Amino acid sequence: MKKSFSWLLSLVLICSMLIPTLALGEGNFTPGTYQGEGTGFGGALTVEVTVNETEITDVTIKGHGETASISDPAIEKIPAAIVENQSLAIDTVSGATLSSKGIIEAATKALEQAAADISFLQVKKEKETANLEKIEKTADVVIIGAGGAGMSAAVEALKAGSSVIIIEKQPAVGGNTLLAGSAMNAADPEKQKAITMSDAEKARIEQILTLESKDDLMKQWQEILKEEFDAYTTAGSTYLFDSPSLHKIQTYIDGDYVANPALLDIYGDQALEAVDFLTALGANWNEEIQAAVGATWKRSHTPTTDYGSKGASFVLPQAEFVAENGGEVMLDSKADTLILNAEGRCVGVAGTTTAGQAFEVTANQGVIVATGGFGANIEMRQKYNKHWPTLDESIATSNGPQATGDGIVMAETAGANLVGMEWIQLIPTYGKGVFTPYIENQMYVNFNGDRFVAEDERRDVLSKAALEQPEAQFYILSDANTVKDGVTSIGTDVDANLVGNGFVFKADTLEELAEMINVPYENLQASVDQFNKAVTEGNDPFGRSVFDQQFNAGPFYAGLTGPMVHHTMGGIEINENAQVLNTAGEVIPGLYAAGEVAGGIHGSNRLGGNAISDIVVFGRIAGQSAAAEAK
Ligand code: ADP
Repeated sequence: MKKSFSWLLSLVLICSMLIPTLALGEGNFTPGTYQGEGTGFGGALTVEVTVNETEITDVTIKGHGETASISDPAIEKIPAAIVENQSLAIDTVSGATLSSKGIIEAATKALEQAAADISFLQVKKEKETANLEKIEKTADVVIIGAGGAGMSAAVEALKAGSSVIIIEKQPAVGGNTLLAGSAMNAADPEKQKAITMSDAEKARIEQILTLESKDDLMKQWQEILKEEFDAYTTAGSTYLFDSPSLHKIQTYIDGDYVANPALLDIYGDQALEAVDFLTALGANWNEEIQAAVGATWKRSHTPTTDYGSKGASFVLPQAEFVAENGGEVMLDSKADTLILNAEGRCVGVAGTTTAGQAFEVTANQGVIVATGGFGANIEMRQKYNKHWPTLDESIATSNGPQATGDGIVMAETAGANLVGMEWIQLIPTYGKGVFTPYIENQMYVNFNGDRFVAEDERRDVLSKAALEQPEAQFYILSDANTVKDGVTSIGTDVDANLVGNGFVFKADTLEELAEMINVPYENLQASVDQFNKAVTEGNDPFGRSVFDQQFNAGPFYAGLTGPMVHHTMGGIEINENAQVLNTAGEVIPGLYAAGEVAGGIHGSNRLGGNAISDIVVFGRIAGQSAAAEAK
């Protein structure tokens, strides 16, 4: 059986290689210009395709509602790739998968009208790679991955006078950082003075001060926190207290003390500096400090959309600096090997371009692995998962398809130690139903209209609770106090862009909303009453402490959502200089790691909004450390 199957497979393969030659020629298309419609991330998009008898001569996007900067690479590359390859079998652009698919769908519909053989156009053509010479390059610092960590590392290495090459497997820079939900945590007492502190928040600090110290660093943080909080109380302050010590302790506690406290110490101390670093490069911020889902404290800085999207502000300011200061980015180039010399020092990176050309980049000073996590790699998720019932394909991911853990595999092969690989984060709220990502004015109800969790809880707690609800989905609820005149405080035009997308619903009264989302009205009203009471009186039955205003102003909004794989906390073990450690705890010379690919910063659970400050802090450290090596 097996033999005859492989024979059949060979025949199919040979035939499929022959098809292009047989099918090319006169009469492939009915000449003309045709329009087709597809569905992208932002809804319908229209594409116009022009063909002569034998060729696709032009593909133009005539209209779309895609998000600038996230979709730009797809809008630029996919139409050109269809013409260049004379094919619909085009690789989607990572981070803009839905836009890419929408453009291909629309082009397909246009070509159907041109009487094209669609199934022929959908066959992926073999690439000719045999005669391509190997690309050989050298730089002082070689970085794999052009997301927020890699780009921050590049800025620092360039500032220190090193030459830099960044190797990126996607056709555009940005990685998952570009898709980030828009929160960067850092204690910023000046800005937090605008927020009033609740009794529940004060009680939380007092409780933290009574906790048993797990180690010397935690003890030190508690001592500093006590001094700071005593001074705050003595001064009769009423604004929201915060400090790097509180940030470190909360990160440590909510990661179940799994993190490496030495890394956390650096992280907490440098988080605000990381915000300032982005500001100096051009990022702009909303005035209001908020709390991202799972942040557990209001210390999330949220960028404006000046770079096209919120996440873009965490990576494009650095990318601009790199472009202006002589850094080279090799796009469409997938690294697969870290090259070690006879002494075990990492001296370069090898891989292959999307066109099939081999490359080898030599590093005079060091190699930084900044390839992100493995949230989109189902095999790796299943291999390492210990804490979720399953992480197979039934659980979607918020990550782009490039998040496949390549750097972890490369580093492990080079001898690196991996830490915390079992800790994989599900985000409870993601996707088209999330009309506001900040928790202070959100309430969650299940399909019965009941609250089921303290909405200011950790992400793992929220996700576990959500998975136990009917259909593992729920609604985020909010009202006109948060979505003022249809727009959120950070400028998301909910009415114009989200209501009516099939996930976000709006109604003048709670009763109408209940009917719209098909939950019992009396339950929904009771949940809102319970929430409103907790805002004024405290003592929320679920134990929630982060609140802002009551829900009492229509129109009311509901967004359908559910948990998705979002972040992988484990990864390559690093030390305080972002140097990679081997399984014996020794430094692998010349090798650094930063960003989601590195483990040990968040522990078992990452606080919402902590990832961006992590990738910038340790990206910068990796860039500085590598650039400090002898050339
Ligand atoms: P971080 O938040 O840690 O910076 P991101 O996901 O934003 O991580 O960025 C990681 C980048 O690394 C992505 O752009 C991804 O395409 C890139 N990348 C991942 N694996 C490879 C690889 N094997 N070769 C080159 N680039 C890679």
